[in-house]
Amino acid sequence: MKAIKIHEFGGPEVLGYEDVEVTEPGPGQARVKLAASGVNFIDVYQRTGLYPGDVPRTLGLEGAGEVDAVGEGVEDVSPGDHVAFASTPGSYAEYVVAPAENLVPFNATLVEARVAAATMLQGMTAHYLTHSTFPLQEGQTALVHAAAGGVGLLLVQLAKMRGATVIGTAGTEEKAKLATEAGADDVILYTEQDFVEETNRITGGEGVHVVYDSVGKDTFDGGLDVLRPRGYMVLYGASSGPVPPLDPQVLNQKGGLFLTRPALAQYTANREELLWRAESLFSWIGQNNLNVRIGGTYSLEDAGQAHRDLEGRKTTGKLLLIP
Ligand code: NDP
Repeated sequence: MKAIKIHEFGGPEVLGYEDVEVTEPGPGQARVKLAASGVNFIDVYQRTGLYPGDVPRTLGLEGAGEVDAVGEGVEDVSPGDHVAFASTPGSYAEYVVAPAENLVPFNATLVEARVAAATMLQGMTAHYLTHSTFPLQEGQTALVHAAAGGVGLLLVQLAKMRGATVIGTAGTEEKAKLATEAGADDVILYTEQDFVEETNRITGGEGVHVVYDSVGKDTFDGGLDVLRPRGYMVLYGASSGPVPPLDPQVLNQKGGLFLTRPALAQYTANREELLWRAESLFSWIGQNNLNVRIGGTYSLEDAGQAHRDLEGRKTTGKLLLIP
């Protein structure tokens, strides 16, 4: 089969389109013939070495397709099942062998495989951020950075479902429009406007209850300035670069703030939690209550271009690789 492998860390040029052997699933594993693989910012961090890992390896953590073989003792899925997954290495490929407990079956007549692939990592992230890390309530206000991004568009929709008022930020007019269509009450063009001043203006100086910050270096300090006393800074990414070390006394000076830096694995800690989040998303998609925007599809061998576009701030919604 074909797969995208890296043998060293570096730019998009280290992504090699290679022949790789298809392996048999071992005990507790299932093999999935992939219909689509999700591209996520974490793949960029893994490619550059910002998140350390072993090389050589096949990149990608997310996808959807059909189970074509199972190993000994597998009860969660059977051959022929349509399944989707996140947090499972090796998805930039035609087949992936995965722990069966990571696979979430979905009804292919209600949810297309591409949409399923596009939902798992970014959708479950938006779910845990709005339902668990800071469970938003009616009447609360959230600031969502990069609101037209893959996580961003889903986060805006889920925050609205929870009854919150949502202020989004976006880099271009086109992105701002998408964030508004997703339900954001206000959108700040943070490449042109000072988002701190604008957020304070919109909230009448009250500030927001929570900042969901995936941008990191460029937005973190400003985010602390728009939180109300005892507000929550949820830093969950570093699209502009990592946030430098922080003196905890700053959280006191800015109003007894809370700071967390969560990751999806902590919020899909067991199969029950994984199924709760993924099945909630699939059911909302099936009922047309959640729109998953696929912002770009690329053939598997064009993974490098997908990375260039994602890193270059050119994309909206989800990027997929089609094997
Ligand atoms: P996005 O689709 O959000 O793409 C990144 C966006 O960030 C860009 O489109 C851009 O939007 C914005 N951005 C702002 N500054 C920069 C910059 N200097 N360089 C590049 N982009 C910039 O990606 P994803 O939805 O895949 O991921 C969003 C973030 O969420 C990532 O940081 C990722 O690591 C994180 N994440 C964290 C998870 C967790 O559990 N902790 C899980 C999933 C994702 P604009 O032009 O509007 O500013």
